[in-house]
Amino acid sequence: MPSRRGAHAGGPGSLRLVWVYPDLLSTYGDRGNLLVLERRARLRGLPVESVIVNADQPVPRQGDIYLMGGGEDLPQILAARRLRADGGLRAAAGHGAVVFAVCAGYQLLGVEFGGEEGQPLPGLEILNIRSGRGERRGVGEIVADVDPSLGVGRLTGFENHQGVTRLGPGVSPLARVVAGVGNGDGTEGAYAGRVLGTYLHGPALVRNPALADLLLSWAAGRLPPLNARDEEWTLRLREQRLAAVPAGPPRSLDERPRPRPPGLGDASGGPAQPGGHAGVPRGGIPARRAFPGPPSPPPRPPTRP
Ligand code: GLN
Repeated sequence: MPSRRGAHAGGPGSLRLVWVYPDLLSTYGDRGNLLVLERRARLRGLPVESVIVNADQPVPRQGDIYLMGGGEDLPQILAARRLRADGGLRAAAGHGAVVFAVCAGYQLLGVEFGGEEGQPLPGLEILNIRSGRGERRGVGEIVADVDPSLGVGRLTGFENHQGVTRLGPGVSPLARVVAGVGNGDGTEGAYAGRVLGTYLHGPALVRNPALADLLLSWAAGRLPPLNARDEEWTLRLREQRLAAVPAGPPRSLDERPRPRPPGLGDASGGPAQPGGHAGVPRGGIPARRAFPGPPSPPPRPPTRP
């Protein structure tokens, strides 16, 4: 059976968070996303029940928010096989549950993703996106401005992926890349209804509490702001990470490697420069740009009890 934890485990009105396959998909502290949702819900007096589902366990269909993290190529392929056979995550998304997926998890939500040799493999078909493999890895800090209709603002995160992602009809880009790679075409992440994916680790919701609150509000309705004392450390972390980001135009993983200034990470997955982005020169972050994408419909109102 999936294991439960949390002070309100099983309580009737509690918010049910489901952490999917941490044994296969949890790199770069993705578990922090679960911790932040728990904390920010409880600070608002919302009881929370967290369910941790390993890859040998069925995915419950009655969760409110499902979380998936990133993973290396082979665990990602195994996760895809098991999740497709299980069907629970797809069913929950179909019933209106919130899904938040990072990197490998994001790619898995799509119609297909690139296997270890780049071969197309079937995804979960929850989001109309297709991922393949670029020529080199995107490694380092990423900054991106979220679709203003979502009211989240600027994202800070860390990325390490070779996947490139293209969005199909019915799916909107989550954000526009200011520095880093993201989807590989100047956009970052994707969302449709209450399903949202991103390339950002970091963990994403620790660095971007407004994104955490968006997910919570999709599941639980409008939330009051937290008091300044409870936000202090998060704001300091955001400031520090944003200050560490080198400037540079959004990059594509399809482009051929170019000569790099000495001291920067190489294009084939070499070590990222501390605090920076492999292959992107340092400097200030460019000013926020207008988001050019089409306006997106507001999320559907919660339909779950
Ligand atoms: N294996 C995938 C890729 O390289 C996802 C990596 C990740 O989750 N960090 O694109």
